Amino acid sequence: MIPDYCKTDKPVNEAVRFVADGMLGRLSKWLRILGFDTAYDPALDDHALLRLARAEGRVLLTCDRELAHRRGARSFLVESTDLASQLREVINGLHLGLDAAFSRCPVCNTPLATLERAAVRDRVPPHVLETHTEFRHCPHCNRVYWPGTHRARMLETLAKVQVESGK
Ligand SMILES: [Zn+2]
Repeated sequence: MIPDYCKTDKPVNEAVRFVADGMLGRLSKWLRILGFDTAYDPALDDHALLRLARAEGRVLLTCDRELAHRRGARSFLVESTDLASQLREVINGLHLGLDAAFSRCPVCNTPLATLERAAVRDRVPPHVLETHTEFRHCPHCNRVYWPGTHRARMLETLAKVQVESGK
């Protein structure tokens, strides 16, 4: 169920940003994979979460009903406990588009930059260099990403989320 104050006929701006509570680490990682700017730090307490949501105009994602109803920040109550259902809740509940998937570092939330093959020569295993042409890297934590089996599995999970949502 979506709190009344979150119900809207208008799709949320593509630039929607989130801050997630300490229970929602996996969901946060997935929202980042989908390209959404999602702040996540399990060390933040309720007060700090609300303050960050307010200061940066982030939607607070929380499984805490009481916290979701605090005034002063826009919140979204996540009621499911399994990841696929949580994703479905957030994607459908806030009418999120999925066009920006794989554009953000799932580890540190930084937008990824494209890398030429030559630039990753010493940074990925030889068989990866041979079999891929598309590389991205995180300018913040320096991780290199490429479309691999990892991504295929993620797309499978995502497909499931969308099918189950009836869209
Ligand atoms: Zn990173």
